[in-house]
Amino acid sequence: MSKGVLYVVATPIGNLDDFSARAVETLKRVDLIAAEDTRHSCPLLRRYGIDTPMRALHQHNEQAQLAPLLAFLDGGRSIALISDAGTPLISDPGFPLVRAVAERGGRIVPVPGASAMACALSAAGLPTDRFLFVGFPPRSASQRRAWLQALASEESTLIFYESGHRVVDSLADMAQLFGASREGVVARELTKLHETFLRGSLGSLFDRVQEDTNQRKGEFVILIAGAESVADRRIEVDVERLLAMLLAELPLKQAVALAARISGGKKNKLYKQALEIVGG
Ligand code: SAM
Repeated sequence: MSKGVLYVVATPIGNLDDFSARAVETLKRVDLIAAEDTRHSCPLLRRYGIDTPMRALHQHNEQAQLAPLLAFLDGGRSIALISDAGTPLISDPGFPLVRAVAERGGRIVPVPGASAMACALSAAGLPTDRFLFVGFPPRSASQRRAWLQALASEESTLIFYESGHRVVDSLADMAQLFGASREGVVARELTKLHETFLRGSLGSLFDRVQEDTNQRKGEFVILIAGAESVADRRIEVDVERLLAMLLAELPLKQAVALAARISGGKKNKLYKQALEIVGG
């Protein structure tokens, strides 16, 4: 095991069989495990026979723990950073420590594994060429709506985390602000016994989750297809036909001005075309 190295180790998001051999080996050999919740990680470590000393590193103490952990690394010892489930730093603690080690030019080694966002995206059936992970929506209804509104025209597939307490409220807001017909996927309890993928329009997803209390239990990833691109929303205009129709109803100057606004064409070119149509 290299000395003075910070290992960032992903843990399973439900199914403990998903822990990699390299992750187990790393956790066995480091000098210290910095864990989000030491009690929560006990069953995983016990299952794999890992008895390395642990220290808690969570959102309430990660600033205070920074100096002692950096000193530990400076002393030539190694640390593995883990969170309760999935990849550390992804809606989880660890950023201040990784940032500080990176800024000092220290060595950081990722030991990859599960993350609920990638797991959900891999099986959702929504476009994966461009996606935007945005984490948990704000809890307050007014903040959540403003936050979602700012994402409504995003063209990438959107990925959200959500809890069972707020999944219905969030889906209601998403259906309202993104449109009830926008395609989405609710991925629940990934890798666990009750793993479920609900696919359909946001309106239908809201109805299904609201009607069935079982669909509100557990952990959720919500994925939403990106907005149609501006280019896709644009319709082709047959300028000659448009001009002819406007000229049948309006004086020439007004018809030309309106045709220019609708088609985005140049007024003087449209004027010449209009004159040809009226035989001027
Ligand atoms: N760091 C983790 C990761 O890489 O996925 C995420 C931690 S975040 C505090 C926990 C949230 O991730 C849950 O509220 C849920 O939205 C999502 N999540 C984690 N495990 C999940 C699972 N098995 N199925 C669905 N969503 C899950």
